[in-house]
Amino acid sequence: METFDYVVVGAGSAGCVLAARLSENGRFTVCLLEAGPEDRSFWIHLPIGYGKTMWDPQLNWMFETEPDPGMHDRRIFWPRGKCLGGSSSINGLIYIRGQQQDYEHWAALGNTGWSWDEVLPYFRRAEGNDRLSGPLHGQDGPLKASSIASKHPLVEAFIGSARGLGVPQTDDFNGASQEGVGYYQLSTHNGMRCSAARAYLRPARKRPNLRVITGARATRVLFAGDSNKASGVEFERLGRRSSVQAAREVIVCAGALQSPQLLQLSGIGPAALLAEHGIAVRHDLPGVGENLQDHLQLRLILEANRPITTNDQMRSLWGRAAMGLDWLLFRRGPLAIGINQGGLFTRVNPASTTPDIQFHFSTLSADLAGGTVHPFSGFTMSVCQLRPQSRGHVRIRSANPLDAPAMQPLYLSHPEDRATAIAALRYARKLAHSGPLGALVLREHRPGPEVQTDDEILDFCRRYGATIFHPSGTCKMGPDGDPMAVTNPRLQVRGVAGLRVVDCSVMPTLVSGNTNWPVVMMAEKAVDWIQADAASGL
Ligand SMILES: Cc1cc2nc3c(=O)[nH]c(=O)nc-3n(C[C@H](O)[C@H](O)[C@H](O)COP(=O)(O)OP(=O)(O)OC[C@H]3O[C@@H](n4cnc5c(N)ncnc54)[C@H](O)[C@@H]3O)c2cc1C
Repeated sequence: METFDYVVVGAGSAGCVLAARLSENGRFTVCLLEAGPEDRSFWIHLPIGYGKTMWDPQLNWMFETEPDPGMHDRRIFWPRGKCLGGSSSINGLIYIRGQQQDYEHWAALGNTGWSWDEVLPYFRRAEGNDRLSGPLHGQDGPLKASSIASKHPLVEAFIGSARGLGVPQTDDFNGASQEGVGYYQLSTHNGMRCSAARAYLRPARKRPNLRVITGARATRVLFAGDSNKASGVEFERLGRRSSVQAAREVIVCAGALQSPQLLQLSGIGPAALLAEHGIAVRHDLPGVGENLQDHLQLRLILEANRPITTNDQMRSLWGRAAMGLDWLLFRRGPLAIGINQGGLFTRVNPASTTPDIQFHFSTLSADLAGGTVHPFSGFTMSVCQLRPQSRGHVRIRSANPLDAPAMQPLYLSHPEDRATAIAALRYARKLAHSGPLGALVLREHRPGPEVQTDDEILDFCRRYGATIFHPSGTCKMGPDGDPMAVTNPRLQVRGVAGLRVVDCSVMPTLVSGNTNWPVVMMAEKAVDWIQADAASGL
């Protein structure tokens, strides 16, 4: 069995950062285990390839939730990246950090080290922004943030209508205040995706002290004898079980769905659940797999009264050729953007002091995000509540590590979420039918004019609501005394030694926005703690 200083499980947004940074100074050996393949597919790297990787089981776990009672017992499709880069290789590229208040809230919950002032340096360390600089931004970091190079008449109209409703225009959603309307920045570079694998792992691959093993699915964390010290990881590759040893730490970065699964399979989790599946309890941690949170997207689909949408371009040979040329010559246009261009953060709840909803404005439309475009001039305004109160869970359904865990989001189970969903949909409609955008709308395809009362709107949300891909919180960090905390604020798993979780699952509460950059920031921060612990001989 080979021994490394650190074994990292999962080469996603967090795992790539950890593997690259921990191998940087040459003092430590690092092994990175990834269940999926290399990120060679062209569709990963071309932003519009989002519509392909969304449905590719080679690159995407393509999970489905349990039937959700809040969604008329529908199973909700939950894509997750399965290749180097993880979900950062298949995501929608939007660059959002969340609100400063999100991190102040984490610190107020007792998570020492996570206040805004303490996380900002790590956002800056990661960031390679093409336009923004100053005390809030970095320009030299490996993860690129690019501004959208061309304006689109529909996005311009969307901005105009939002301004008409009193929303300020912004060119930086990651500035001092998130509130505003404008174009998103994207995690792209020269019109190509900048995943965590591209940004961090690729430059590190040639190091002799870093081993990356793809197609390696971790099945269990190993412990030294009866002790509670993690000693390595067992994994399955090409149908064979093998293992690697960790002299210092095992760092689990398998994402919010599979990190809790791996802990549960390793005997760390709610004792009753483990007993139900015949797994010996190494440490009874009731919080493992609980506290699941996600952003629920509600999509208003509209038809434009002239052929100016990406649907129109994609349906004509000339339109497709023009898009291709735009990308080839200028690295811009729909191929360089992927799906969403316009953003809006505002408030619908009178009690909110910061934005409580976010819009993703796309110049195309389809029945599902990433699906085949409609045969009409459609475009989409997707809206989500930023800080949902509903909580679900992720639980193993068997002791077989190759079985997907049971995921139950329990969307809209909290009354505040139902009220916000209704208010958000009403706000989206008001926006769509006013000002310059209203002048471009021919009809509302979904929900449709027959959906009017609160009950009808809520029914629409249950019938058509879907994820905006941010499941989080299932191994939450928390202070001593929080019985549901899975890790301490330094992301060390409670009750065992030599084991950390670093990924979306450790967020105690979901940040107000998209989650890729927050995860990268968390991994950057964890690196400093891991190295400090190594230096102090821990
Ligand atoms: C379709 C989609 C669109 C999104 N759009 C955006 C967006 O526009 N902007 C944004 O900021 N965020 C977006 N997100 C969310 C964001 O990408 C994720 O929150 C983030 O990438 C999660 O990082 P992570 O490290 O927690 O997990 P992941 O990046 O998912 O990494 C987990 C890795 O672990 C691997 N793994 C799992 N189990 C095992 C195992 N047992 N053994 C070995 N390896 C394992 C997986 O294959 C994967 O590579 C989107 C996500 C998706 C899926």
